[in-house]
Amino acid sequence: MTSELVETPVLIVGGGPAGLTASLLLSRHGVESLLIDKRVTGSPLPRARGVHSRAMEILRVCGVEPDLRAVELPITPGAEWRVDLTGSPLREDVPSAGRSPVSPCEGLSVSQDVFESVLRDHAGGYPAGRLRRGALLESFRTVDGGVLATVTEQASGRATHVRARWMIAADGARSGVRRQLGIAMNGPDDLGRQTMIAFRADLTGRTGARPRGIYFLTATGAALIWTHADDRWVISQPGPTAAGEDPATVVRRVLGLPDLTLDVLATNPWTAAAQSAAQFARGPVFLAGDAAHRFPPAGATGVSAAMHDVHNLAWKIAAVVHGHGGEKLLDSYATEREPVGRRNADETGIAWTRIFSGDGAPFRGRSLAQLDMGYQYTSPVIVGDASPDADPPGADYHQSATPGCRAPHLWLADGSSTIDLFDRRFVLLTAEPGHAWRDAAASCPGAPVDSHVVTEAQWPDLYGVAPDGAVLVRPDGHVAWRSVTPSTDPKADLKTALTTSTGG
Ligand SMILES: Cc1cc2nc3c(=O)[nH]c(=O)nc-3n(C[C@H](O)[C@H](O)[C@H](O)COP(=O)(O)OP(=O)(O)OC[C@H]3O[C@@H](n4cnc5c(N)ncnc54)[C@H](O)[C@@H]3O)c2cc1C
Repeated sequence: MTSELVETPVLIVGGGPAGLTASLLLSRHGVESLLIDKRVTGSPLPRARGVHSRAMEILRVCGVEPDLRAVELPITPGAEWRVDLTGSPLREDVPSAGRSPVSPCEGLSVSQDVFESVLRDHAGGYPAGRLRRGALLESFRTVDGGVLATVTEQASGRATHVRARWMIAADGARSGVRRQLGIAMNGPDDLGRQTMIAFRADLTGRTGARPRGIYFLTATGAALIWTHADDRWVISQPGPTAAGEDPATVVRRVLGLPDLTLDVLATNPWTAAAQSAAQFARGPVFLAGDAAHRFPPAGATGVSAAMHDVHNLAWKIAAVVHGHGGEKLLDSYATEREPVGRRNADETGIAWTRIFSGDGAPFRGRSLAQLDMGYQYTSPVIVGDASPDADPPGADYHQSATPGCRAPHLWLADGSSTIDLFDRRFVLLTAEPGHAWRDAAASCPGAPVDSHVVTEAQWPDLYGVAPDGAVLVRPDGHVAWRSVTPSTDPKADLKTALTTSTGG
């Protein structure tokens, strides 16, 4: 029997947050892809319950945010420390009230299974992004600079060959693709074992109708998280459960509620790790998400970082497919994302260890906002200037338009944000006096550039330019280049900046 041969520009292996976001973004960039996932249903455990602001910005631009807000859990933000659930709070960590000054998006509280189902609906709405569930990547090899993969339809056992120009390995922490490529993970792989128990119980008598984001129960060192509106919760407690111990008994003991009525839904032992892959790309294969890095849940950054990876990658693949990006642009994926993977693994690893060394403070290095939004890319496709490092350890997050940084958020007169401008094309930002730059953009050959005049008076200061300066922002919302002052030859300067930032 001859196997079917399917051709696609991009094969995405894995339909978790990384793979689904890759599919969605590639489709929006007009690039066809085929996503396969061995699972037929969504993730069986709630896993993550948080997505941070930067990932929500990506989803805002893609039009997914309203559907996610509609299923968001009405938590009371912050953390509470109690001896067990019967005790009064020993300590509270309450985020400052009011809208964030640095982002149009708040973080989202929703369980990963719900999050993925919304994301899958959106990704599946684009004809360019084919999604195949119950399809296992059996093996692959590189052929003619691309990938030839064997995929098995699990229900029928039927094999399909898939020929792709590139493959995104979004196949999770145990990535078979990464193992086949022999790419090592650096960093500690065992920062302590935990047991997660998902259960259903009415705890409103102890938590109220809007529970805290997380409860740390100090008698057992466990964490308690509300996951679904229908009374579903998880606890994660250090170590394995005693042999033969009933999980329901463990939950009652951890909560200090010996008579609690509950249904245990699932148990899952897991090990915290703080690792990053030695290489994020090899030939036509890109590692993304947990396949590229594993973070302990201090700060809950795993899902968000998985999405940041593919946000960096998707527009670059699109630029090459559409003929305005050179291969060097694809090399910059690893150059830009590997340091972020190492930084996040190091910081969350230290933070996780500190949680268990007793002071309970989640981050003593970079703040959570800095981890989420502060990373600054340095690569041959970023036109650096002499500005100081915008992402020093130990600082809080300050918005910066230093090349390589996420372009700062600013509310615009029409109620939108600057973040909404960064989608499928490069954007040249100028203030009113920057007409020479706008003329240059209108006649510049190469990658498509939109010009936007920012009329808000704060813009030059926020973006670190004179009123007649200019800032070039990539489709992933990172600053590619800026000219602090006007130029004697704006067209030549802009052309050079665009050529560099598209890997030409
Ligand atoms: C117990 C637990 C708690 C967590 N808590 C948090 C948290 O609070 N906050 C947070 O941000 N993160 C948390 N995480 C981490 C978070 O779940 C991951 O960071 C996130 O799922 C990474 O997304 P991903 O798309 O890279 O990988 P995954 O979500 O793991 O997706 C990988 C996909 O690849 C598929 N796959 C694998 N191999 C193949 C193959 N050969 N062929 C086809 N398909 C394949 C799998 O079926 C899976 O769907 C937690 C993780 C665990 C285990």
